[in-house]
This record gives sequence, structure tokens and C-alpha cells, in this order.
Amino acid sequence: MTRRTAVTHEFVQFVPREMKEGTVYVSIEYATAAHLCACGCGNKVVTPFTPTDWKLIFDGETISLDPSIGNWSFKCRSHYWIQRNRVEWARYWSDEQIAAGRERDRQAKKQYFEPVPPPSVSSPEPSNSDRPKEPDSIWARLRRFFRP
Ligand SMILES: [Zn+2]
Repeated sequence: MTRRTAVTHEFVQFVPREMKEGTVYVSIEYATAAHLCACGCGNKVVTPFTPTDWKLIFDGETISLDPSIGNWSFKCRSHYWIQRNRVEWARYWSDEQIAAGRERDRQAKKQYFEPVPPPSVSSPEPSNSDRPKEPDSIWARLRRFFRP
């Protein structure tokens, strides 16, 4: 397997079932991106955009995802950043570092989302028959708030 050092991006409404290696599919509508693991293992990596998950930076030509992508649940355990359509590989992380990183993540979510239960961050597996759900935006919440 060859580690990829660059990706291209594609803005899509739905992430296609057959994804191409080296393409990051970005759905603004679903606030999610997906790509095949940059190590070449073929695993699908889904990176939802939320205040405590990933952020997408689009500079008009390239995309960056922040923070890094740590595929600890895959055999490859690859860890890399996607920055300006380049893949920056991280050093190998020990189990302790992975656990510490997960714990930080959990704490961040806890602080951000409590007392409301955290939303599901699993990938939406969209199909064409699905109408996109209205995101629970601040506006949706405000509308509910002002409704008598
Ligand atoms: Zn991989």
C-alpha cells in the first residue's frame, strides 16, 4: 500500500457509494466529508463537521481539514492531516497517546454538548431518496423558542 501525499476534493450533495482513492468528497448540505483512507487500505473515513469534530477550510482552491485524522479503529491506524490538499503524515501514536487523544475529545464534547445529549456523529449513509434533514441550526432553535 502506498501512502498518498496529495488529494483532490469534490463538492457533492451526497457522498457516492463508489468513492475514488485520493478524492475528498465534501457535502456542505450534510456538513460532512468522506474519503478513502490515505494509506491505501480502502477504508472509508467520514469526517463530520461540527464545532467539536472537524472544520473544513476552503481557500478557493484547496481544502484543509482540522484537526488531524486518526484512523485508530482501522488496522492501519494511519494518522494524518489534510492541509491544502496535501496529506501530512503524523508519527506513529502509541496506545497511550491514542487513549489520551480520545479522552480529550470526549471531554470536549461533554463540555460543549451538556446537558443536551450529544448528537449522533455516525455517517448519514445518504441515499438519493432521502430528503436532506433540516439541520438543527441556531435558527431552527430560535424559531422553536419564539413559537407560542
Ligand atoms: Zn488506512
